[in-house]
Amino acid sequence: MVCKGICVRHKAMKPVGTGRYSSGQKRCQVCEIFVKWDGLFCPCCGYRLRTRPRNLKYKAKLTAKKNIAEYQLQ
Ligand SMILES: [Zn+2]
Ligand SMILES: [Zn+2]
Repeated sequence: MVCKGICVRHKAMKPVGTGRYSSGQKRCQVCEIFVKWDGLFCPCCGYRLRTRPRNLKYKAKLTAKKNIAEYQLQ
């Protein structure tokens, strides 16, 4: 699993007003790049692409906690 430099050709631009994952972009951990690619695997290194953020649940939990804390302050 090594980066061959092909991913650069599929590099995805940062979307405006929406998230990278929600606009269909995928992340390759090996190439450390976001690509616009239909397949499940990186066209460059062959590693499985990530289609959703790693800590989505964790983040949601954190936000909920923060809201409660703010509510109690008022
Ligand atoms: Zn690559
Ligand atoms: Zn890759």
